[in-house]
Amino acid sequence: MLFDTHAHLNATQFNEDVEQVIERARAEGVSHIVVVGFDRPTIERAMELADQYSFIYAAVGWHPVDAIHMTDDDLMMIEQLAAHPKVVALGEMGLDYYWDQSPKEVQKEVFRKQIRLAKKVKLPIIIHNRDATADIVHILREEQAAEVGGVMHCFTGSVEVAHQCIDMNFYISFGGPVTFKNAKKPKEVAKEIPLDRLLIETDCPYLTPHPFRGKRNEPSYVKYVAEAIAELKGVSFDEVAQKTSDNAKRLFGII
Ligand SMILES: [Zn+2]
Repeated sequence: MLFDTHAHLNATQFNEDVEQVIERARAEGVSHIVVVGFDRPTIERAMELADQYSFIYAAVGWHPVDAIHMTDDDLMMIEQLAAHPKVVALGEMGLDYYWDQSPKEVQKEVFRKQIRLAKKVKLPIIIHNRDATADIVHILREEQAAEVGGVMHCFTGSVEVAHQCIDMNFYISFGGPVTFKNAKKPKEVAKEIPLDRLLIETDCPYLTPHPFRGKRNEPSYVKYVAEAIAELKGVSFDEVAQKTSDNAKRLFGII
């Protein structure tokens, strides 16, 4: 069993063939998928998929790139959806200083509001971080996000930062980049961090693992992430699959 903790099957890239994509994932042993919504249309589609498939769950949040457009109504919608039995986390949320489409101060405020909401509704959070590690760690600490914990999605930071996040009750999640030959940092962190704090994901349709790099990503490819981690840690594929699934179920409260 494999648990893809971060998939965007709600992306338009899957409009034509999402059913076949899901079938392929099942055939490759994917037992659970969290579909992540980050604005109105993607949240709506994530909820549809979660309602349609027993093994698909939803995370709902607001992306930092688009922070400038989040209204009070949007936040209220997220709060209402948090009560839905298939919604297992809030996010993705965080900071993105790479695209810089929303001012940093707005991003920080929208991030803080969502952390506070997560604490109110008692759900873990999924963190998107691009070029903003210091501010992310600072805000998580200040807002006492450890109370709910969550996932550092597609982690690319150092071993030191990984430990800081684990100390705050977060899991470290790896996607396609850990399979790339030149990805020194993710490989180092995957080797160093105990298996009981690791998660796997695809972030599909993006970040496709080796050997399909450059093509559209999909949940069935999460096995390549598990394989890479197994090799780095010198443990079996089955152990990685089992432990990362157990971790995800524990975090998301899935029995
Ligand atoms: Zn994502």
